Amino acid sequence: MSDVVILGSGTGIPSLRRGSPGLLLLSNETRVLMDSGSGVLRRMLDIGITYHDIDLLLYTHLHPDHIADFIPILFACKYADLPRDKDLLCLGGPGFEAHVNQLKKIYGRWVEPRSYHLAIEEVSQKPLLFRDLRIFSKPMAHTPESVGYRIELADGKSVAVSGDTDYSRDVVELATEADLLILECSFPEGKKVEGHLSPSLAGRIALESHCRRLLLTHLYPACDQVNIVEQCREVFKGEIILAEDLMRIGV
Ligand SMILES: [Zn+2]
Ligand SMILES: [Zn+2]
Repeated sequence: MSDVVILGSGTGIPSLRRGSPGLLLLSNETRVLMDSGSGVLRRMLDIGITYHDIDLLLYTHLHPDHIADFIPILFACKYADLPRDKDLLCLGGPGFEAHVNQLKKIYGRWVEPRSYHLAIEEVSQKPLLFRDLRIFSKPMAHTPESVGYRIELADGKSVAVSGDTDYSRDVVELATEADLLILECSFPEGKKVEGHLSPSLAGRIALESHCRRLLLTHLYPACDQVNIVEQCREVFKGEIILAEDLMRIGV
């Protein structure tokens, strides 16, 4: 059985309840970190996972609330008491390589790996086979480089993660019949912002994709003032889970 652990259920807005985005997918053979907002590197320690344990780093897009801890991760891999020796693959949407190259220019040898191999790659149309996982991606309706991921596990189960997005057919296709669909739900009903989802739109994606369970995350503080799950349930009658930091969900 595989688990998803929510490391940060919030956004870029500082919150004591909700950290910046980041989640772990822990399968039999592989530990995947998806997005690493500020604080995610440290938050992993709460469940006994370190940056050494991560096999694959996936980024949904380049907004700082999703990628802020990337440089700290590379820095830790290089200068810890025990430098990393396991290869690390980092994957992002179009423009990810150029973004990392700019960061390398700024941070130079501080982040240049010495003891391990770092691969920086951009998603392609073809699924990526990585150990016991098959990883698919689709563009999301947020920024030009935004992608969502669908990860299929060896036992046939699947997890789809939108990252930040508005409603689109691509999200529905990515999520089709997923066992766990993790959608952003930035703002309550009536306060929708372009490029993000409201509870009813998240519910619509869940309904149209026939996912088994829906988890709502990327919650701005306004979401904690109302009953987001109830608003979503108006549209989607299946199981809805409201993310909390360090929540662990079996897939
Ligand atoms: Zn965001
Ligand atoms: Zn964003």
